[in-house]
Amino acid sequence: MRPARALIDLQALRHNYQLAREVSGAKALAVIKADAYGHGAVHCAQALEAEADGFAVACIEEALELRAAGIQAPVLLLEGFFEADELPLIVEHGFWCVVHSLWQLDAIERANLAQPIQVWLKLDTGMHRVGLHPTDYKIAYQRLQASANVAKIVLMSHFARADELDCTRSEEQLAVFQAARADLSAEISLRNSPSILGWPAVPSDWVRPGLMLYGSTPFEEAQAQASRLQPVMTLESKVISVRELPAGEPVGYGAKFITSKPMRIGVVAMGYADGYPRQAPTGTPVLVAGQRSQLLGRVSMDMLCIDLTDIPQAGLGSSVELWGKNILASEVADKADTIPYQIFCNLKRAPRLYSGS
Ligand SMILES: *Cc1c(COP(=O)(O)O)cnc(C)c1O
Repeated sequence: MRPARALIDLQALRHNYQLAREVSGAKALAVIKADAYGHGAVHCAQALEAEADGFAVACIEEALELRAAGIQAPVLLLEGFFEADELPLIVEHGFWCVVHSLWQLDAIERANLAQPIQVWLKLDTGMHRVGLHPTDYKIAYQRLQASANVAKIVLMSHFARADELDCTRSEEQLAVFQAARADLSAEISLRNSPSILGWPAVPSDWVRPGLMLYGSTPFEEAQAQASRLQPVMTLESKVISVRELPAGEPVGYGAKFITSKPMRIGVVAMGYADGYPRQAPTGTPVLVAGQRSQLLGRVSMDMLCIDLTDIPQAGLGSSVELWGKNILASEVADKADTIPYQIFCNLKRAPRLYSGS
């Protein structure tokens, strides 16, 4: 059997969820959209359901997958419905629904729903992606309140630059939010992972941790709360071939690495078809036989090469950690000029094995 696999530590997932709650002092919706950032939405939801205040996903397709697996906790649709004909299913399954645009508000008012739904009314405080304009917000709230199709309303927004700890943009966005909701009395939800970890003064009734649940830091620099996270995913494989090369020999596609001295090279069963980033350059860290080493040359579809020159105990069959508790996904992401979010979401082919349920 091919040795590439992703080990998922559900105990670490629960630890990180509790950390989100502890740091924020708020209720927390575990964000498990995009198949829990590659970690497996159903497994993650099952592992968290006993303690979670609820879950959040991107769309009704993802929410229905949770219900089909028997998850009964509240599930928020982060972009609400894409078409009004989703509304009866939203009622049937008790999903909570973001309203980010006036057309959604119109559709809710026009619908004839068997029961009222819970709405999270999203304000655009400056990210300028989705959310109502501040001048429309209060009127939208009042229209929702007046609609027989609406039960509870939660007020929400989203920060664009909370991962930049010395940037004042989050405070500006908060000020826009506070002005728009000044005379509305409802629960509020503003914070995703970077704002949970890095912006303790932002008020919250509900937080929405995503990346941090999976134990990865959203920050480029070291940060005290982020250092308490436990990585959930370990992507690992084994050395399947070893070669000794003299100086001056090319390694892999395009001869992107040329040996500078006699070198021992290990070939690992892991490639971009598993989601390992092809953009990762020579020098990207790996752990082999318990020692840090580095990637050499181009990542190919099913294999990549690593340096074994100074690790005599490593050889055929040695375990390799591509990321996990020793090599952080954020380090690999940084080398590959991307973010840990994308590293996780790209995971495929390598089977996931769960522990700590
Ligand atoms: C994805 C998402 C989150 C989670 O963000 P993280 O940075 O992964 O914590 C929170 N809120 C909304 C609206 C989202 O779309």
